[in-house]
Amino acid sequence: MLTLKNLSVRLHKKNILNKIDIRIPDGETHVLMGQNGAGKSTLAQSIMGNPNYQVTGEILFADQNLLDLDPQQRAALGVFLSFQQILEIPGVKIYDYLKLLYKKSHEQKLTPLKFKAFLREKMALLAFDESFLERSLNHGFSGGEKKKMEVLQMLVIEPKLVILDEIDSGLDIDAIQAVARAVNYLKEKHQTSVLIITHYSRILQFLTLDKVHLLSKGQLVKTGGAELVRQIEDKGFQSVL
Ligand code: ADP
Ligand code: MG
Repeated sequence: MLTLKNLSVRLHKKNILNKIDIRIPDGETHVLMGQNGAGKSTLAQSIMGNPNYQVTGEILFADQNLLDLDPQQRAALGVFLSFQQILEIPGVKIYDYLKLLYKKSHEQKLTPLKFKAFLREKMALLAFDESFLERSLNHGFSGGEKKKMEVLQMLVIEPKLVILDEIDSGLDIDAIQAVARAVNYLKEKHQTSVLIITHYSRILQFLTLDKVHLLSKGQLVKTGGAELVRQIEDKGFQSVL
């Protein structure tokens, strides 16, 4: 369970987020929507521990206040945030990288054979061809392939809290469904708490939504159910504000 309590965030002496309260119980999927510049990415970055932001209030997760921990420690607790600008790393073979990620995030060891089977299951879920395992990390990947690679890493880590910041932007419908399958899988198998930041309802139709939060100018102005997404898409943010 993630609990944001009275969370305020400043950047360069400017208030970006004001007194946000959000609670995401284990196994729930929440959506964060809002106009450009509302502070959605700031919220995601603050949870992960980006040191550029001055954060006050509390971010409670796994019986700890994440504000006391650096980003590596937060990741070790099971917090995952997808990257928006994804790096290409020539020379780092995907298979080796995923093996390293698995080792860092799991206590239980797997034999090479079992790890291959573990990977195969995840790649099938994403309709990712196994030939990718031999390639360099993101090197020469299309935008959509890079995003699916992020999601594959997420599946290998099996996090307890997942934040996906506009992962669906620029994805075709098959890739969107693949991402949704991955989210549903983590939710069912590991009771993962999920926060999806998006502008579009397309990905949301493949997910079971527990709550929708609407952010405007750094304030949480409304929380509702899935019907809020439809209202925003039909009539715009102003109709809801
Ligand atoms: P969203 O993800 O909802 O589009 P962001 O969290 O990226 O919004 O940005 C929130 C606000 O913070 C915006 O008004 C943006 O202009 C401001 N902001 C982001 N980076 C900086 C910066 N380096 N200096 C000043 N303001 C910034
Ligand atoms: Mg953003």
